[in-house]
Amino acid sequence: MTNILRYLDEVKICPHCNQKLTACEAPPIHVGDGLGWGAEVLFICLNDECPVFVNGWDKIEEAYGHHASYRYMELPGSPEKNYMMVGNAGAFTGCIIDREKILSKNKQYIEQKKMMARLDTAAAEKDITAPLAILLDEGAAKDKRKQACDILIEIANLECIDPIRNHPFRDPSLESFAGLAVVAVLKKNFKKECPHCAEIIKAQAKKCKYCQGDV
Ligand SMILES: [Zn+2]
Ligand SMILES: [Zn+2]
Repeated sequence: MTNILRYLDEVKICPHCNQKLTACEAPPIHVGDGLGWGAEVLFICLNDECPVFVNGWDKIEEAYGHHASYRYMELPGSPEKNYMMVGNAGAFTGCIIDREKILSKNKQYIEQKKMMARLDTAAAEKDITAPLAILLDEGAAKDKRKQACDILIEIANLECIDPIRNHPFRDPSLESFAGLAVVAVLKKNFKKECPHCAEIIKAQAKKCKYCQGDV
């Protein structure tokens, strides 16, 4: 990921058609000799009008007798010219690197690390921000999310309940774990959720003050 980021801003031009090369994720195996490329990113000329691609069909037909062509390619940080055999025009279009997606993923990752660093002091500071963010982060590790639950119970701030209740958990076991945390937080505050309208009411209430239901 960090390596990909390093190469995202590199601009390379195809010497054959003068079009910008497209950054693509490198396939795990070198198509030609079974070795890795040694790079996570390949810069490929995906221009269907590029003479390398247009003329490649006849060249390969003549030389090897099969239906394929070439795409021009460079590795990051290297001016070396490479030509890759492709079976059709769609080859590599599926692994074009989505720059915005990678940048936003990276932003998420940095944010998650920041929250993780704050987790240890959260209970002492009575700050639910970090444990809540980690519990609700579907990309965070499960044991960390469970630890965040325990910290939320320890802090017992009712503010954490709505965000937990409104979060669509992908992992049902984590959802029930978070549900238990909600109940524990309510209990520590001498509260409960109304079974009819889900509003938070006093633990000893017989009637809900929001929906007037018997509880
Ligand atoms: Zn080209
Ligand atoms: Zn109610």
